[in-house]
Amino acid sequence: MRSAEKPPLIWLNVSLFLISFVFAVIVTPWYGYHYGYSIEHWVWLIVAFSFCNLSITAGYHRLWSHKAYQAHPFLRYVFAIGGAFALQNSALHWSSDHRVHHKHVDNNDKDPYSAKRGFWFSHIGWMLRNYNQDTYSDYTNCRDLQKDSVVMWQHKHYLLLAFLTNLGFPLLLGVIYGDIWGMLLVVGALRLVLSHHTTFFINSLAHIWGSQPYTDKNTARDNGVLAFFTFGEGYHNYHHIFENDYRNGIYWWQYDPTKWMIKSFQWLGLAEKLRETPYLKIEQAKAKQALKQAMARIEHNPEKLMLKQSLQHEFDLMMKKLNDFYSLKKQLVEQKKSSLVEKYERSLLLMRYQEMKAEFKSQQKSWNAILTHC
Ligand SMILES: [Zn+2]
Ligand SMILES: [Zn+2]
Repeated sequence: MRSAEKPPLIWLNVSLFLISFVFAVIVTPWYGYHYGYSIEHWVWLIVAFSFCNLSITAGYHRLWSHKAYQAHPFLRYVFAIGGAFALQNSALHWSSDHRVHHKHVDNNDKDPYSAKRGFWFSHIGWMLRNYNQDTYSDYTNCRDLQKDSVVMWQHKHYLLLAFLTNLGFPLLLGVIYGDIWGMLLVVGALRLVLSHHTTFFINSLAHIWGSQPYTDKNTARDNGVLAFFTFGEGYHNYHHIFENDYRNGIYWWQYDPTKWMIKSFQWLGLAEKLRETPYLKIEQAKAKQALKQAMARIEHNPEKLMLKQSLQHEFDLMMKKLNDFYSLKKQLVEQKKSSLVEKYERSLLLMRYQEMKAEFKSQQKSWNAILTHC
């Protein structure tokens, strides 16, 4: 059992979260009621909120914690400034915590924001007390980041950057638009609280609420609603199984603006080496998880027990067709690169590929059909 004595409170964090929250939910509406806000306040709120959150998702998370792609120094400086604006500690510290979270996910003793310790703890509680006092400055799991001059520059000047962005920037807007208090409240406090809690939802709600299409080995969930508020990070079940993928929402219809932004940076020459999980692996994980969930449903429903054998049969077929299709696809890609292949050979392979594709698609249909009956 966990010791009854809790570690001491971190008063800086407690007061920061509390004061910004009170300003955002009480003082900001009160000020608006008496003096009013104009369109500039709301536009700058959205701009600053997006800048903060995208710096966390594309910078702190996918670039630095997971090395899902490589970014030009200019971009890294932008993310470093945006990350300090988001006030979530330095990129080095954040990434170190996050790598431990992935390595020991749901382990109450090791995962710094283990979802198994409840909503409050994983959302914000873990930052209110000195739970990790022994390992706080241990960055041995981020030696690669310690070689990144932008990461180290931000780590060294974090406090100054945090002050300049969080107070200096709203203040500057206040001077420009002639409403210092209004801008401090909306772009300062309200933006900070919105940015904090939407990011924190990934550690709390995205481990509680949603579906598990890829794995149930950990608590992470896929949730489109959360993806909307977190610039695409809501596809957390996918993310925990394939953490080095630069995408979290892999399908075109999934809302993942962080992915779209990284892809756009690639077109602009600011990002390269974007990592993607091979589709074969994704499909295999999905089919295995679907089989597991369907088997569990069958176990709970004796009327459906006779489906068990055909389900397993369809799954085996699905795996076979999947492997055949993707290995042929691979051969085709390799052949395209080689100039030595005869035209005749090429068209033969293409024909087999088309055949296999049709077989795979039809197997996928019967697999989905049996899943709906289980
Ligand atoms: Zn997680
Ligand atoms: Zn992650």
